[in-house]
Amino acid sequence: RAKAQGPGSFQLFTEEMGQKAVKTLAMQARLRRAIENQEFVAFFQPQVEVKTGQFIGMEALARWISPDRGLVPPGEFIGVAEEYGLIDAICEQVLDDAVRWTKHWHDAGLPKVPVAVNISGRQFHNVRRLMATVEGSLERHQLDARYLELELTESSAMTDPENAISVVANLAERGVACSIDDFGTGYSSLSVLKRFPIRKLKIDRSFVMDVTTDTNDAAIVCAMIAMANALNLKVVAEGVETQEHIDFLHGVGCDHLQGFLIAKPLPAEEMEAMFRKGPPLPPR
Ligand code: C2E
Ligand code: MG
Ligand code: MG
Ligand code: MG
Repeated sequence: RAKAQGPGSFQLFTEEMGQKAVKTLAMQARLRRAIENQEFVAFFQPQVEVKTGQFIGMEALARWISPDRGLVPPGEFIGVAEEYGLIDAICEQVLDDAVRWTKHWHDAGLPKVPVAVNISGRQFHNVRRLMATVEGSLERHQLDARYLELELTESSAMTDPENAISVVANLAERGVACSIDDFGTGYSSLSVLKRFPIRKLKIDRSFVMDVTTDTNDAAIVCAMIAMANALNLKVVAEGVETQEHIDFLHGVGCDHLQGFLIAKPLPAEEMEAMFRKGPPLPPR
């Protein structure tokens, strides 16, 4: 490593950069092929209401079913997809899968809850395409717009708030509600936040993780809930992993939960089996 400071370090650096570029390029090519072969699907993670113990919604999370790599999580491809303008095409497949299953479950007499699909900030640059994607899937599967929600991360909402506000308003007009995802990580100003015609805030998992042991996290979560109440927004806590999390969150008035304690993101068949079993929590 001492050599890293010598003249050789530049060489080493560019070599690493070069390798990274080659990897990214290979990934890009694989993604293009995967899009063509329609290898992207939705997994589903249920959301519950503590008070009643009932399902109140679910989040659709992208998974790439790769013939050579198996199940690939979004952390491994969303970034590259965004960078190379492939995110819209991937979202189309995930959103369509999510809408199709949701309609299927409603028709099967299973809980008639909405599905929330994640949207990348990049997709807000191409509103026409986003609206066409949404419209296309709702039409194709005959799902009422009120059962589709979109999640936008706080940081992408705040990158270009004026544009984001107008896209969210467009969607709302069409009957599709938006939520702010990963809330607490994106430095929003309250004055901007209150102008977003949204329905829900999702408290980021990083605040929930230590909420029962870290008094700062506990204070932040309470403040977020108070703020959401003041703005008339619903709150969902992500990353609920223990009964202590549930007890704390319920105690401070956050009644909608999502996390591994209830279920991991599930393939559609397993989500369906869980729906058939009935309410995931006992009522309080
Ligand atoms: P997110 O939207 O905040 O989704 C929640 C992530 O937290 C999911 O990871 C989920 O598996 C994980 N999670 C849920 N409950 C728990 C828990 O109790 N404990 C822990 N440790 N983790 C939990 P996943 O599926 O790997 O997705 C990661 C991120 O990738 C998502 O974060 C979202 O930002 C993005 N993403 C997923 N699907 C899509 C998509 O279709 N389009 C776009 N643009 N982004 C997506
Ligand atoms: Mg999300
Ligand atoms: Mg989130
Ligand atoms: Mg998150």
